Amino acid sequence: MDLCATDDVENHKFLRNLGPEPLGNEFDEAYLQAALKTRNTPIKSALLDQKIIAGLGNIYVCEALWRAHIAPTRKSNSLSAKRVGALVPVIRDVLGDAIAAGGSSLKDFRQTDGELGYFQHSFAAYGRAGEACRTPDCKGKISRIVQSGRSTFFCNRCQR
Ligand SMILES: [Zn+2]
Repeated sequence: MDLCATDDVENHKFLRNLGPEPLGNEFDEAYLQAALKTRNTPIKSALLDQKIIAGLGNIYVCEALWRAHIAPTRKSNSLSAKRVGALVPVIRDVLGDAIAAGGSSLKDFRQTDGELGYFQHSFAAYGRAGEACRTPDCKGKISRIVQSGRSTFFCNRCQR
């Protein structure tokens, strides 16, 4: 915890290098397209990079890429601007759904009133290795790989 003047918040050493909040107004299609078009890293790693988007966790990146049918291994700069732009509302929807469900309790997460979160029961990709993909008409199964030391869950049939 640190204390600083409101006017100095944007320049605070812990905050000045963070990208925009995914639910904030600065995070929009034009921003994400510009941020990703020069990145040669897998889209999964780029979305976990706090300098690009602040506070988007591993679970939510997996779920957003599954919903957007984007393979986590795709190089960021190989995706069309249209597909990158389409990720913005998908990311917001995933977070909105997670908030509505009270978050995700995998280990010890609790809401402030002590209640568990329930979004983990709605995961379509995360933690479902070997299970059937939930995309309508997709006959694929969810696979698990490790990227940058983190588990990635995805369908290698409908995520391209
Ligand atoms: Zn699938």
